[in-house]
Amino acid sequence: MAFEDLLNDPVIQKYLHELVGPTGMPVAAAPPDGEVTDEELAEELGLELNDVRRALFILYENDLATYRRVRDEDSGWLTYLWTFHYDNIPENLQEEMYRLLDALEEREEYERTHEFYLCEVCSIRFEFGEAMDFGFECPECGSPLEAMDNDRLRDAMDQRIEALRDELNVDVTG
Ligand SMILES: [Zn+2]
Repeated sequence: MAFEDLLNDPVIQKYLHELVGPTGMPVAAAPPDGEVTDEELAEELGLELNDVRRALFILYENDLATYRRVRDEDSGWLTYLWTFHYDNIPENLQEEMYRLLDALEEREEYERTHEFYLCEVCSIRFEFGEAMDFGFECPECGSPLEAMDNDRLRDAMDQRIEALRDELNVDVTG
């Protein structure tokens, strides 16, 4: 995928936004073709040098940027020349989605295999065992705890899980 296509993809924009946050987004959203220094980026984008460096380091940690150090022979100062590697994005995204799917499946199983009770006054949810220990009375306010159905939450999770499995082509066998 070309840079422009990648960056017009809302999923990828969201992914980058979650990585670098709003202050880092100008850096992440404008990858130059060749090498660039952090100072050049800061000046070009009108950003604080620290914000640029922070964003670059996050990209580096996620294999989306690398740098090489060059020492200026006159001043002795080190310059960092950065290269963006956005060709790694699709793979990263997929790993991210697998992680999310695992977490959702685990959570869905927890929701499916437990009974819950609710204090409607405090909006606190208790597992069955906890509710029983409290004699089905809210430990905070003393209101009776009511059996709570989590069907809507589970439905929403099931839909999300199905969509992720679809996207990742995960076969479901039981
Ligand atoms: Zn309560």
